[in-house]
Amino acid sequence: SIYGDYIKSVIRTVPDWPNPGVNFRDITPLLQNSAAFRKLIDSFVHRYQEMDIDAVAAIDARGFIVGAPLAYELGCSFVPVRKKGKLPFRTISETYTLEYGEAEVELHSDAFQSGDRILIVDDLIATGGTMLAAAKLISRSGGQVVETATIVDLPDLGGSQRIREAKYSVFAVCS
Ligand code: IMP
Repeated sequence: SIYGDYIKSVIRTVPDWPNPGVNFRDITPLLQNSAAFRKLIDSFVHRYQEMDIDAVAAIDARGFIVGAPLAYELGCSFVPVRKKGKLPFRTISETYTLEYGEAEVELHSDAFQSGDRILIVDDLIATGGTMLAAAKLISRSGGQVVETATIVDLPDLGGSQRIREAKYSVFAVCS
C-alpha cells in the first residue's frame, strides 16, 4: 500500500512478549505519532471510500482504534465484533481454535441489515483465526464481506492465505 513502508517503520517489535520466543508487533508508537496515525487512517479511507461500505465491523480491541475513525470518514455504521460475554443484547457467536484452547467472537444479531456491505478491520493477522471467525460470523448474519483489512499481516504464519482460501479478500497496509 502507498504508506506501507512508512507505517511499518513506526511499528515496534517487542521480543519475548507475551511469551518467550514471540515477537510482538506493537502499534502504540504508530498511534503516538499523529502524522503516522493520520496516514494509516487515510490509507484505509483511500481504499474504501468508493466501495459503498455500509458498516465497518471492527474486532475487539485494537480493531476499534482504526475502525471508529474509518467509519466516521466513510460515513457508515460502526459495528463491534467483541470477545465473548461483552455484548449486552441478543448475540450470535463463532468459536475458533487457538494454539492452546478456544476463543469466541460475538456480534449483536441486529448489528446490520441482511445484504449490507461490510468491511472487517483489525490491527494484525497472525494465524488468521480471529479474522476468519469474524468473517464467518458476518457471513452467517447475512452480511456481504467486501474485504478483511488489517494494519499488519504476518505472511509467514499463513493467516492471510488461509483467509483467502476461504474466499475472503484481504488487504494489509504492511507485511
Ligand atoms: P490470529 O487470530 O492468530 O490471526 O491473531 C490475531 C489477533 O491476535 C488479532 O486480534 C491481534 O490483535 C492479536 N495479535 C496476535 N499477535 C499480535 C501481535 O504481534 N501484535 C498485536 N496483536 C497481535
